[in-house]
Amino acid sequence: MEEKLNKLQDVICRSKRIVFFGGAGVSTASGIPDFRSDTGLYAEEVDGLSPEMILSRSFFFLQTERFFCFYRTHMLHPEAVPNAAHQYLYKLEKEDRLRGIVTQNIDGLHRKAGNIRVYELHGNINENYCMECNAGYPMEKILNSQGIPRCECGGVIKPNVVLYGEPLEKYVCIGARREITNADTLIVAGTSLTVEPAATFIEDFNGRNLVIINNSPTRADERATLLIRGDVADVFFRLQAGDLSGTA
Ligand SMILES: [Zn+2]
Repeated sequence: MEEKLNKLQDVICRSKRIVFFGGAGVSTASGIPDFRSDTGLYAEEVDGLSPEMILSRSFFFLQTERFFCFYRTHMLHPEAVPNAAHQYLYKLEKEDRLRGIVTQNIDGLHRKAGNIRVYELHGNINENYCMECNAGYPMEKILNSQGIPRCECGGVIKPNVVLYGEPLEKYVCIGARREITNADTLIVAGTSLTVEPAATFIEDFNGRNLVIINNSPTRADERATLLIRGDVADVFFRLQAGDLSGTA
């Protein structure tokens, strides 16, 4: 492991245009459950309905109150704070080595850590809009409401997160793909790359270093120039702490 961490440190030091592509595994150390792990949210069923069904566009419009009941208790984690991975990436952006973060997470923790160039493919729980007048509301408005959260105008407030059956935001995708195409190093972490269409984005990468950090196999392992089996937050914590013995 030390040898691989040394290699990662070396890759980062020699890179000028790093892009980080992250999934649920980036936020588990912040106490946000990994949707797709065996014990995660998607293993549960609520009233015979899978989370995928509840978190779909059609369910939102047909059963709005039940949608929000589930959304409030399972999707919102107001107590969550950035972990070592988010903090390390903020440091890389400040040093002008990191060109962008492309994330499948909706928790907004990269922005909370201070990063600016974040492409949130599935939206962000901190952004919520009235479907009638487009007024914006913070997460607390959803959290502190009961039943269906409503705007002052009476309209229903919809979270700016991509539900099943909804397309990704076009301009976010374009920006994310542009960053990946121009990167010299792509770090893919905390995702097994099974969620489409985002997972295919990494096929745009043609830079020198493809680093993969994940607990389990991913679809891109064969292409990786550096493959680290481990927890993302732990890896970055050890890099930050300089907890590396010997040299590469
Ligand atoms: Zn309104």
